[in-house]
Parts: sequence; C-alpha cells; structure tokens
Amino acid sequence: MKRVTLLIATMLLSLSAISAQEVKNIIYLIGDGMGLSSVSMMMVENGYEATIFDKANNVALQKTYSADNRVTDSAASGTALATGHKTNNTFIGCTPDGKAVESLLDVAKAEGKATGVVVTTYLQHATPAAFYAHTESRHNYEIITEQLAGSSLDVAIGGGMEFFRRVYGDNIQNTIEKQGFSLAKELTDITQHNGDSRLLALLADWEVGSNQGTYLADATREALRILEHRGGDEGFVLMVEGSLIDGMGHANDAKAQQIEMQGFMGAIEVAVAYAAEHEDTLVVVTADHETGGLSIVSADANFNLSEQGVEYRWTTGGHSGAMIPIYLYGKKSEAINGIVENTDIASTLMELIR
Ligand SMILES: [Zn+2]
Repeated sequence: MKRVTLLIATMLLSLSAISAQEVKNIIYLIGDGMGLSSVSMMMVENGYEATIFDKANNVALQKTYSADNRVTDSAASGTALATGHKTNNTFIGCTPDGKAVESLLDVAKAEGKATGVVVTTYLQHATPAAFYAHTESRHNYEIITEQLAGSSLDVAIGGGMEFFRRVYGDNIQNTIEKQGFSLAKELTDITQHNGDSRLLALLADWEVGSNQGTYLADATREALRILEHRGGDEGFVLMVEGSLIDGMGHANDAKAQQIEMQGFMGAIEVAVAYAAEHEDTLVVVTADHETGGLSIVSADANFNLSEQGVEYRWTTGGHSGAMIPIYLYGKKSEAINGIVENTDIASTLMELIR
C-alpha cells in the first residue's frame, strides 16, 4: 500500500513538473489600434486568400474599456495587456490609486526566463512602457526612459534615442553599459550581437518609422535569436508591437494602415513559424483597442445589387470601444477562450509560465 501511495505521489509530482514546463516561450504581438475591421480590410485586399490571421488555432474576443473610460487609450489598455489590471487612461503599469503592479515580463524574469520588447515606435511609448515602467502619466517620458535604462529586459528594439539624449546628454552609451546593456544603433549591430550581453537597440531619434518594409519581421527574428540564447532551458517572453497601425487610424488613412498591417503581419509570420519549429511556444496576437471606427461599406448605395466595389470609411479620428479579436497559435492556444476582459490575457499568460 505504501509503495502504491509513493508511486502515485511520484507520478503526480512528475505530472506537475510537466505542466509547469508546458509553455516555455510566449510571443505576444500587439497591433496598436488594430480592430477587427483592420483585419477584415487585409482579408478583402488579399482577395479572401488566407492570411496569417486565418491560420490561428483558436480565436477569442476581448473587452477593452478602461477603469475610467469606456473608450480606452493605449496606456490603460497597455497596462491591462501587460499586467492584468484595469487602470485609468494615461496610467502606465499602475492601478488607479497609483500602486505599481508587476507585468508579464516581470513574472517571466522571476521564473528565470529572458524577456524582450520590439516596437516600430519609440520604446518609451505607452504600450511597450506598460511592460517595464510604472508612472501615472504616459507623458512622463524622462521617468519612463530612466525606468527603461534600469529595466531587466534582455532585448529592447525600437526608437527613442531623443529621450535618452534629454536624460543622459552625452552619457548615453556609458549609462546604458553600466546597466549591463550593449547599445545598438543599426539593425546590423543587432545581427552581429551574439546575445552574451543584454541589448538595447535605439534605431531612431523618435519612431523607427512607418513604411519600414520588413523591419518588424527582421527585428522580431533577431530578438528571438537573442532571447533563445539568453533564456536557455527556461525560455523567454517577447512582446512585439505593430505600433503605427494606430497612427494611420487616427489619420483615417486606409492605404497607409494597410502598409503598417503588412509589416505587423510579417512579424506574426516569423512568430508563428518559430512556434511551428518549437512546440513549447505559444503565440498570442491581439490589439489594445480599435482606432478610427473603420468600417467596410458598399460603394453602391443599393447594396442589394451586385457589388460595385467597397469603401473604407472612418467614423472618428480617435479610438473606439469595439471589442478586439485575439488570435492564438501553438502550445496551449486553447487557454484563452470566448469573450474575455483585456486583463484576462495577461493573467492567463502569467498562470501558464508560473
Ligand atoms: Zn491611438
């Protein structure tokens, strides 16, 4: 009897060890301002051929409202997606009463994983900042810059050199190296980086820029290479943001948004290909909110007739409160299901790696 009990206990122990190891790597891709209409626009533009979104193993929907507004900004929604807490618009990485809360990347670090962020905008922008910073205003760029320099990130790739200049003057390289980062200023510096040290890549004064072709896909591939090296057996968590989809929504510019969507979809392709080769990897693709109130309407007033073309129409220069799709690929892609709060995503991802 004792031997049977011991055997069962051993089996249970090894089972729990297996489940703790189930998701080794998470690649979390956020299209800033990417609503379901942005995805639908790419489907229409692609002639209904399958896009990377069609290849998801599972989909869900999330509610984006913030603690103080039914229409969220990128700070509150970034905080929800990063930490699992609803907060007020403009708040970064803290609750409405100003209490700092840990992010998915903090949890990953505590579990021994390597962590990274890759963006097309400046690294101090609201969405990436929510993953490493804590401040009551997204506009506290100097504070956010100091928190980035002092962060435990293994890889950070994006723009934002100008804020470093304002805070550290001519001492940028020194300051960053003292914190244990190597500084990269060009994508080629990243390609040559062997991953033995942490890497901060400041590729532009402000945004890396729109219309950058394969930049986001290339940066994602390099980040994965470095994180795989640094994370070793413990794995990694990487956040990738298609940052400028939002700006093209604010500008109500469908053609420009399609270019940003293409760049973001290239990064998703890289992530999904990685997960196909590394079975213990989960890929989650979502957005922080919808921008522009985009809709796809019939160009012909009488839509009962055969089609005369479609038009992309915008209803606001701001954000909207529409629900946002979540696409999941790879390991544990069933973990997020149905209609959820934006905060449920980070909470679930934290559970999967704890
Ligand atoms: Zn916006």
